[in-house]
Amino acid sequence: MDRRTFLQTSLFGCAAAVVGPAVSGLSSSCTAQKPAAPELKLSFQERIACGDSLGEKLDFMEKLGVVGLEVNGRNLTTRFEEIRQSIHGRNIKISAVCAGFEGFILAADPKVKTAFDTSMHELLAAAGELGALGVIMVPAFNRQTPVLPHTRETREFLCEELHALGEYALKYQTSVILEPLNRREAHYLRQVSDAAALCRDAKSEGIKCMGDFWHMSEETSDYAAFIAAGEYLRHVHIASRGRRKMPGEDGEQDNYISGMRALKELDYPYYISFECGTLGERAVTVPAAVELLRKQWQKA
Ligand code: MG
Repeated sequence: MDRRTFLQTSLFGCAAAVVGPAVSGLSSSCTAQKPAAPELKLSFQERIACGDSLGEKLDFMEKLGVVGLEVNGRNLTTRFEEIRQSIHGRNIKISAVCAGFEGFILAADPKVKTAFDTSMHELLAAAGELGALGVIMVPAFNRQTPVLPHTRETREFLCEELHALGEYALKYQTSVILEPLNRREAHYLRQVSDAAALCRDAKSEGIKCMGDFWHMSEETSDYAAFIAAGEYLRHVHIASRGRRKMPGEDGEQDNYISGMRALKELDYPYYISFECGTLGERAVTVPAAVELLRKQWQKA
């Protein structure tokens, strides 16, 4: 068999594997052609890693194979150069920017709303220039008052505002990522599917949503929540499920497999980002959490 015939036979074998099992006996050497399972892309918020400086933290992350850094949006414009320099030449990207704007989008006080608009625009520009997937936003925390009433008109207003904000975000190749919380912190937006419906109704590609395994105690099913979010899902937060510590610190409760299975089925290409504390030594609890998540991802 010459090289050309060999290649043709091999290619046929691969095609047979795609066609179906009846003719797939030819194809055992083609298993490498199967689409690879989506990889687990882990990200840390800045306070998760060991290290005094940002550089030390990034070194720690690289050793663990963590490929995303989620930065706090507060003072982002003044820290912009430091952050950009710190990831230069590393296998770490800025995954997302966590809040950091002033005011809130559902503020009833026009001054607070204006402060939100101005600061959110600045933040979106900086996030986009850092290559972040988006800026994480909660429409209104329970503690934020005076707030627009929870009515149909307010939802329509929110969708119009989100549309404009989403279009602005797109100019900087980034997005606004809506984060549902639990009812103790934000009754306005509590479920991933509700956030996804807002994305749909905002009618802008620049509006996306996320799920946070900690807040997802509001959900009846992690799997269903992520599947419902589908194409709108742009980010995920993770913590232990009892006390919001490192995944694994709450033992058996820290099972993320059904949610991870949904992410795999969605071919979710974005990050799962740590947002949590720890009761132990970070040098021990953080690598253990990374290992636990890798094992569960494999099982999912
Ligand atoms: Mg969160």
